[in-house]
This record gives sequence, structure tokens and C-alpha cells, in this order.
Amino acid sequence: MDCLFCSIIKGDIPSTKVYEDETVYAFKDINPMAPVHVLIIPKKHLSSINDVTAENSAVIAHIYEVAAQLAKELGIDESGYRVVSNCGADAGQTVFHLHFHLLGGKKLKVEMC
Ligand code: AMP
Ligand code: ZN
Repeated sequence: MDCLFCSIIKGDIPSTKVYEDETVYAFKDINPMAPVHVLIIPKKHLSSINDVTAENSAVIAHIYEVAAQLAKELGIDESGYRVVSNCGADAGQTVFHLHFHLLGGKKLKVEMC
């Protein structure tokens, strides 16, 4: 299967890694929308939130643990941040490997949609 983020996890496409463990990989977004813009992804391919089930949802909880840890390390835990996952066309999802944007380091726009 041809998936950009699977290729990044394999190391076939370069990325700026900020965190890695057995189940999760995190790297800097190539087109940052904020001073801190990290993508946190499961190593196992899931296309979007639509693929989350009772069988595989433990990784989602873990991604939020990693988000909290990275927010601390990157110095935005006190100032605030947003964790976003776009799902499908109306949300503007462009890469169909489930990912969570960790955004912070500036006052983010209040509008959610
Ligand atoms: P989304 O629009 O929610 O699907 O987000 C996809 C994100 O992936 C965008 O913010 C892109 O800037 C980012 N992106 C695309 N290609 C790369 C890449 N090679 N390395 C890092 N981030 C990427
Ligand atoms: Zn993938």
C-alpha cells in the first residue's frame, strides 16, 4: 500500500522526529501552522478516525498521553495548545493515515469551523 506516513515511519521518506516508541511516531509538520506543529501518528496504519474500533482504540489513548508529554517538553503545556484530527473531505483531511496535529506556541484562532 502506498502511504506517505507509513513511508515516513519506515524511514523511506525523511522527517524531523520528535518522539518514537513501539506504537507511536511523532514528527514536525512540513508546513507548520503555528510555532509548535507536530503530527502524532500510530505506527499501525489506520486511515482516519473512521477506522477506530474497540480492538485498536488503546493507541488513541496513548497518543493523547504522548501529546501531553510533548506539550510539556515543548513548553506549551501552560500556555495552551490544541490537538486536532481531520477526518474526511469536509474536514480537509489530505493524508489518509490517521494523525493528530499538536498545535501551540501562539494564541490560536478561536473558530473551530
Ligand atoms: P491533514 O490536512 O489533516 O490531512 O494534515 C496533513 C498534514 O500533513 C498537513 O499539515 C501537511 O503539512 C502534513 N504533511 C504532508 N506531507 C508531510 C511530510 N512529508 N512531512 C511532514 N508533514 C507533512
Ligand atoms: Zn499509512
